[in-house]
Amino acid sequence: MGSGNDRTGGAMDTGEDKRTDGAHGDEGRGDDAGRGARRDQAVRAAVEQGLLGPMAPVVGLLDVTGIRDSAAALRAAFDAVVAPGTPVLHAFAVKATPLVAVLRLLDGEGIGAEVASPGELALARAAGVPPRRTVLDSPAKTPAELREALALGIAVNADNPQELDRIDGLVRSAPTRSPLGIRVNPQIGGGSIGATSTATATSKFGVALRDEGAREWVVRAFLDRPWLTRLHAHTGSQGIPLTLLARGAAETYALAEEINERAGRRQIDTLDIGGGLPVNFASDATSPTHARYARVLREAVPGLFDGRYGLVTEFGRSLLAKHGTVVARVEYAKSAGGRRVAVTHAGVQVATRTVYAPAAWPLRIAAYDAKGRPKAGPEVVQDVAGPACFSGDLLAEGCALPPLDQGDYAAALDTGAYYFAHHYGYNSLARPGVYGFAPDGTGGVAFATVRAPQTIEEIVAESGGSHASALTTLRAPEQP
Ligand SMILES: *Cc1c(COP(=O)(O)O)cnc(C)c1O
Repeated sequence: MGSGNDRTGGAMDTGEDKRTDGAHGDEGRGDDAGRGARRDQAVRAAVEQGLLGPMAPVVGLLDVTGIRDSAAALRAAFDAVVAPGTPVLHAFAVKATPLVAVLRLLDGEGIGAEVASPGELALARAAGVPPRRTVLDSPAKTPAELREALALGIAVNADNPQELDRIDGLVRSAPTRSPLGIRVNPQIGGGSIGATSTATATSKFGVALRDEGAREWVVRAFLDRPWLTRLHAHTGSQGIPLTLLARGAAETYALAEEINERAGRRQIDTLDIGGGLPVNFASDATSPTHARYARVLREAVPGLFDGRYGLVTEFGRSLLAKHGTVVARVEYAKSAGGRRVAVTHAGVQVATRTVYAPAAWPLRIAAYDAKGRPKAGPEVVQDVAGPACFSGDLLAEGCALPPLDQGDYAAALDTGAYYFAHHYGYNSLARPGVYGFAPDGTGGVAFATVRAPQTIEEIVAESGGSHASALTTLRAPEQP
């Protein structure tokens, strides 16, 4: 089944999804063809409505229709493979798009939140995600974080033996409704991108199951603690083939079966299989789909779906990436060494991974004219550069596009996760505004502010503006 080369999204994948994914295409949901048209309409409307222009030269846009469709498709994908009545919680990995309005939109679609820091938990709470639909996983939880989580009753997965010790103390000192589990690393290996491979032999995450004595330690940890009821593994993100993700789930399932067997009861009642479904950055097609992954999982680990275990998933990128676009004005168009260069306002501050690791994180760029209309015409090879002061600040190098001229717009596609919501403060560049868009009911486009653009005053304040004399008034050492 899985070709192992999911990033390129081969024709076979798309064909299969069209045939069998009921929530895809045939009901007018998750309609990949509609995606580009909605985006084009939104860019045009953003220019017409003044959200984007000389005074606001870079914005992030979020396709609300697309996000809702993906949420519905995710739910349908698992509903189609689980035994009726199986509890399934899809918890969106907040780190993918840490924006409160996005979390509330997903909550309304029945998707909870997976949080991994005090900030992410606060965002989920600000969005109104209920504790019973919130899961806390992170490798460095402090005692205060753990105490708060257990007091709220949110699910917690212990990363390591020292963390389990802390949880032991908390459980002894106060009753909690929190479902509690242990994160394991099945050590099944990495994918094509080292930085997003979490199941390597030496990964920092979870209990490394194949290390000497580790598996037995996990089993004993459960047998000694009747309140531990969950097992968690997240075996990687972008660059991990589906077959490897499924192996991670299979190993976790096998361990749960072993623990329940030794306990003589169904002590583990829920398996958290993490997220990590890769995203196709090469075209507008959703590939692989959540539906396909659910089918791969059911084939590889049928016992996971027979109703004996509740399920938790933690998808991030696959829910949001394709619904975001960063659009930047071309401030100058120039040429250097025979190469055209469009100098835009989107670079390392909104596309950090692409700028620093372009081979692993290539982005598609779309060209729009000064009125926000798709640019036509013969393509020329050009660089699309950002505003930051280092030469590697390129959104795309040597890409073939209709020539970008001064006042045009360049859009970096599929940037709804891990891009413009992950601002990097290089050159004190301001965080751009983020706007959601949806049809306005009369054939136009309506926008809503998801995050206001950062002001220059805020940049000064954030950079210690109120401590301007801190260093000049710090007492000097006594002179002899
Ligand atoms: C990052 C992360 C996720 C989400 O990964 P995606 O690739 O965005 O789906 C889920 N679970 C954990 C524990 C993570 O660290």
